[in-house]
Amino acid sequence: MPAQTVILDALSRAAQSPAQPDYPLARECSFRLGGPAQYFCAPQDPEALRDTLAVIRDFGLKVILLGGGANLLFRDEGFPGVVISTKHLTAIRAEADSLLRVEAGVSNTALTEFALQNALSGFEWAAGLPGTVGGGVFMNAKCYGSAFSEVVTRVTALSSTGDWIQLSAEECRFAYKSSVFQIQPYIITEVLLHLASGDREMICQRVGEIQADRKNKGQFLFPSAGCAFKNNYASGQSAGALIEACGLKGHQLGGVRVFEQHANFIVNTGQGRTRDVIDLLKLIEQAVWEKHHIRLEPEIRVVP
Ligand SMILES: Cc1cc2nc3c(=O)[nH]c(=O)nc-3n(C[C@H](O)[C@H](O)[C@H](O)COP(=O)(O)OP(=O)(O)OC[C@H]3O[C@@H](n4cnc5c(N)ncnc54)[C@H](O)[C@@H]3O)c2cc1C
Repeated sequence: MPAQTVILDALSRAAQSPAQPDYPLARECSFRLGGPAQYFCAPQDPEALRDTLAVIRDFGLKVILLGGGANLLFRDEGFPGVVISTKHLTAIRAEADSLLRVEAGVSNTALTEFALQNALSGFEWAAGLPGTVGGGVFMNAKCYGSAFSEVVTRVTALSSTGDWIQLSAEECRFAYKSSVFQIQPYIITEVLLHLASGDREMICQRVGEIQADRKNKGQFLFPSAGCAFKNNYASGQSAGALIEACGLKGHQLGGVRVFEQHANFIVNTGQGRTRDVIDLLKLIEQAVWEKHHIRLEPEIRVVP
């Protein structure tokens, strides 16, 4: 393996932005947990992202994409490879017929604001949803009765060999909190979304209601990654209700605990470690199985 400085130099040139060694990932994740990335870089644009991936392939390094870090949990030991942040892929271009061409690193907040300013309706549901459009498509994030699958027309991505590919909404194979991107190692660079022209006042009102609702539910009081488990719809009850019925609200393990205001949130008290979250996830899964005979599937993505 070449010296660290050789790798850093190659990554920095490809990304057109300085790559950093031993970068603290807790800083980039909403849980505020996780050790250092061996290398961290944030390519300037989609072409720079493609060049960065080529360098990573040449050196045989491991790689993971980081959007807003609102659903990711890195190990306490950190990540032994390159973490690529999409934080510089932030272009939004309005096209005809209420279509928006949006780069993967655009935050849901920025896009909600853009849609509001341009009187475009159909993205209000994502107001206050932490994370980026790329991460949202990957997760098929869902809230307030809508999901990314309802607004995506086409996705531009890079294949594992560095080729540009285009996926139709159908090819994204969206399902509940799931997409093809969780199965295939495609890297999303741009998303074409279809919205509809709407009334600015009404959009503004709905955005305000949703933001206030999230705040009133205490979602931003503590570091977390949102819902810890997916709902198991066959059970007829939300994951939160199943966990609450096990008496686990407020249950603390190490520096993390089941949030008192929403049993499907695990929150970091400030002293937490990733190990604590993993142990608490297992404890909850076991308790729900013993009480309800229902298997819960984690929604939080723990990086292997
Ligand atoms: C307070 C709070 C409330 C939340 N509420 C909700 C909610 O109501 N509904 C909901 O669905 N989620 C919710 N979440 C979870 C989170 O907001 C979503 O899962 C969000 O879509 C994650 O986006 P991200 O950009 O942060 O992705 P990240 O956490 O950065 O990444 C998630 C996954 O996507 C991959 N990824 C990211 N970008 C790309 C890319 N460009 N190409 C390929 N792969 C990529 C990552 O490798 C990772 O596997 C909440 C989280 C918090 C902290």
